[in-house]
Amino acid sequence: NDEQFKNVISHAKEYGFVFQSSEIYDGLSAVYDYGQLGAELKNNIKTYWWKAMVQMHENIVGIDSAIFMHPKIWKASGHVDGFNDPMIDNKDSKKRYRADQLLEDKIARYEKDGKTDKAAKLQADMDEALKSENLQQLKTLIEEHEIACPVSGTKNWTEVRQFNLMFSTQFGAMAEGAEEIYLRPETAQGIFVNFLNVQKSGRMKIPFGIAQIGKAFRNEVIARQFIMRMREFEQMEMQFFVRPGEDKKWFAYWKEARLKWHLALGTSAEKYRYHDHVKLAHYANAATDIEFEFPFGFKEVEGIHSRTDFDLSQHQEFSGKKMQYFDNDLNEEGKPYGNYVPYVIETSIGLDRMFLLTMINAFEEQDLSDGEKQDSRTLLRLHPCLAPVKVAIFPLTKKDGLPEKAREIMNSLKLDFNCVYEEKDAIGKRYRRQDAIGTPFCLTIDHQTLEDDTVTIRHRDTMEQQRIDIKDLQTLIESKTSW
Ligand code: ATP
Repeated sequence: NDEQFKNVISHAKEYGFVFQSSEIYDGLSAVYDYGQLGAELKNNIKTYWWKAMVQMHENIVGIDSAIFMHPKIWKASGHVDGFNDPMIDNKDSKKRYRADQLLEDKIARYEKDGKTDKAAKLQADMDEALKSENLQQLKTLIEEHEIACPVSGTKNWTEVRQFNLMFSTQFGAMAEGAEEIYLRPETAQGIFVNFLNVQKSGRMKIPFGIAQIGKAFRNEVIARQFIMRMREFEQMEMQFFVRPGEDKKWFAYWKEARLKWHLALGTSAEKYRYHDHVKLAHYANAATDIEFEFPFGFKEVEGIHSRTDFDLSQHQEFSGKKMQYFDNDLNEEGKPYGNYVPYVIETSIGLDRMFLLTMINAFEEQDLSDGEKQDSRTLLRLHPCLAPVKVAIFPLTKKDGLPEKAREIMNSLKLDFNCVYEEKDAIGKRYRRQDAIGTPFCLTIDHQTLEDDTVTIRHRDTMEQQRIDIKDLQTLIESKTSW
């Protein structure tokens, strides 16, 4: 599995999906750049989400709020005081670790060794310490369970300290008078503070949702597993505003709807599971993660949280502005529901994690050897709607008017589909290159094309080839690649 993960990472680099940021300067840890194909794939994932959430729901609209926000917002949301990880340093290696992560690793080790009682006990003790924010207790557990630094091998630990995950920067031109502000650690607050702007200008009626895709920044201490945990990443979030008392119902609705969104891409259901939270954040009355089986185990891709009226009430208090909605629908007693602060169900998915999931799920090394000949190919079995390139166009040779004919076909398709043109190398080699980037269709233009206006269309997954009239191409490709 480790091997498979490594292969996906090097494949992503080799074909221009993902690069380490600032690579020629030896990189910047946990920051990545999307290359020419990665940017396309990422855009397609965004489109799939936006269409499913905004376009398909009459009562959900999308916004694009700024990354910079008033510093009080992060006071109100609880991020200034509460968005921390408990960290511990090893005095010999000078390496810093998340205390809970060290304990988690120990629990996994106990489980592996069949010491399930010990594992359960440590899990319970750790949960208790985290819940009561007892940092001393976390340190005691690390000592009692004789956890050593993975680098130095020693047990020479500092105290456990809280480490805030928000990045800050100076706002304003002059150093003097400049104010310290934060880069947003989630996109959700941009939605909450615009709740009434959108509700009023869009004449939205509860229940309704506001969606947004955008960057978020977290100074993650443990940054590993490629684009799984980044310091700059992108979220696709939707906040759904409901009547108090109807939150449980809508939580159940979104929990189901969001898993369906994942499964509609054709991923096997066994790869997914829910992880319901027992331990809830202070603002939530229910929460679940949608987890995917990555090569390194089941991990969260998306969170669905019932956030109560916590955020809007906090902003009401901190800003001094009313965050209420007037509901003139009639309740069971025949009276209007009246004014209230709505409850919120949030769906929050990491775009980069979804990208990683998509790459891992699509990546396949196929053995095509038959009795006589050894052969293999690397395939990205992407859903055609997500594929960065939909159609590759190959003139069989570089002469006899074939390139011109191929260009003509490309020009008729490129407005609707992302196409590439390639005339170098043998056809077989060109096919393999497209397989490796997940292109669902390759068209070969040969001498017969000039006579009867037909081309060979080759299907990525089956490698099947068929002769098709040029005039039928548009419909065929569209039927497979449009949402
Ligand atoms: P984790 O427990 O993995 O740190 P989280 O519970 O802090 O995640 P949320 O705050 O619920 O995550 O954020 C919602 C989604 O944003 C996550 O499900 C994940 O897909 C994504 N996400 C969060 N942090 C990162 C990160 N550092 N890099 C990439 N994606 C992230």
